[in-house]
Amino acid sequence: MTGKLRNYINGQWINSRGHAFLDVINPATGDKIAEVPAGSGEDIKYAAEKAHEAWLTWQNIPATQRIQYLFNMKRILEENESEIAAICTRECGKTLAESKGEMLRAIENIEVACGIPKLMQSGFSEDIATGIDEFYIRQPLGIGACITPFNFPIMIPFWFMPYAIACGNTYIVKPSEKVPMTMTRIFELFEELDLPPGVLNLVHGGKETVDALLEHPLIPAISFVGSSPVAKYIYQTGASHGKRIQAQGGAKNPVVVMPDADMESAVKIISDSAFGCAGQRCLAASVVITVGQTGEEFVKEITRAAGAKRVGNGMSDDVDMGPVITKESKERIETLIQKGLDEGATLLFDGRGINVAGCEGGYFTGPTILGNVNPASEIYNTEIFGPVLCILHTPTLEDAVSLINQSRYGNAACIFTRSGAAARKFRHDTKAGNIGINIGIAAPMAFFPFSGWKESFYGDLHGQSLHAVEFYTQTKVIIERWHDEWTRKF
Ligand code: NAD
Repeated sequence: MTGKLRNYINGQWINSRGHAFLDVINPATGDKIAEVPAGSGEDIKYAAEKAHEAWLTWQNIPATQRIQYLFNMKRILEENESEIAAICTRECGKTLAESKGEMLRAIENIEVACGIPKLMQSGFSEDIATGIDEFYIRQPLGIGACITPFNFPIMIPFWFMPYAIACGNTYIVKPSEKVPMTMTRIFELFEELDLPPGVLNLVHGGKETVDALLEHPLIPAISFVGSSPVAKYIYQTGASHGKRIQAQGGAKNPVVVMPDADMESAVKIISDSAFGCAGQRCLAASVVITVGQTGEEFVKEITRAAGAKRVGNGMSDDVDMGPVITKESKERIETLIQKGLDEGATLLFDGRGINVAGCEGGYFTGPTILGNVNPASEIYNTEIFGPVLCILHTPTLEDAVSLINQSRYGNAACIFTRSGAAARKFRHDTKAGNIGINIGIAAPMAFFPFSGWKESFYGDLHGQSLHAVEFYTQTKVIIERWHDEWTRKF
């Protein structure tokens, strides 16, 4: 699995029908490590035809049998944890511990999807009128597909795919072209599953491939995770082709620190949230709002915590934070930091210009903290998606919540406090899909939906849990009356 990557369609590794390739780069070194097909609509056409053929049989295999493949999927991921994590770190930059962490989240989703025979169960009402019964069943839609971002190459396809296939759909995974190697290796390992050809397919590519997915008449449901402008485009374009769409977008997650917070643990948790995965998590803390008298002490402590982060190649065990994904991303982040300073923010900790010995070609930006950030400024309102924390201050919790609710994003919001009343008010009043109380990354477990509000989500049903089951099935209501001898009262 080096050199030129191939697609996996109908149980076979085949070359893309497009001829262009994109470089896959190790962001810790700047070295080219593979080439990924830029993709072609023809790849999707072929994958959709084969996935449809497979679906004609797969939909009729009992759910209890379909989930047997998932039990093996879980085992394969567990047995190959170290190898998969290393590939993920190499192409994505995060630390090995972070790669293993997302692997756990993938496995949790497989475990929940193993409960599909129960999760797909429906309702039955006997005698809605004398001798007439009514019930509904859930049936698969056909072919599902996911289009995923660069920052969680292992986990994110598993928010959708295990549920979809366990419900009786066949599936196409389209990973980010920046990190295509991890899913390629996972598919190689999944050959051991011996799934019927066409049930699980992998197609690489960029916009042309995505557009072909959005337009193909045999594909009724698409899950997307990525930036908000693309999420909106996917939602609008997919819907205009009559598809079900769930599209998770970008974020700018605020954290409120109340005067009664346990400062030591709040600082540790917030610095891990803001700088872990180099700030490239959709649930990362990117804005801290200190309330009342909290400001000075928090700034002193978070600055110290930022200085303690060890930045380097994620392959080394003694590293807390790896590089950002591309050269362009590093340049964009550092331009935004300068913009923030030009807009009047104070530089509390500067991560620019960091040198990592032995990784001179890597794309490193260290933890950076800006204080006195103006809520009207570009740095406050833009998703930076890097290790940059903006700090501002409000006199009261009400002011903080009001500020948060003006954001166009609504992925997550957290509060640090010892007050049950403040926490309760915050969780009720704040307009965001995932709320953390003394939590830095409000990531829902697999048996909860991965929520998201406002421009952080386009659609109705989210990924994971029962939402994923509902998204990948349609209900059929049946009303039945039988002959007299079936309904006669004895
Ligand atoms: P991205 O939007 O650039 O790319 C995501 C996917 O969309 C990729 O597979 C890519 O090939 C495809 N794509 C990109 N541009 C496209 C276009 N113009 N037309 C069609 N398809 C296109 O996102 P990214 O940079 O890979 O990931 C980072 C973003 O993802 C951040 O904004 C982050 O907040 C978001 N994200 C959100 C969540 C969530 O749960 N809400 C989770 C992870 C990441």
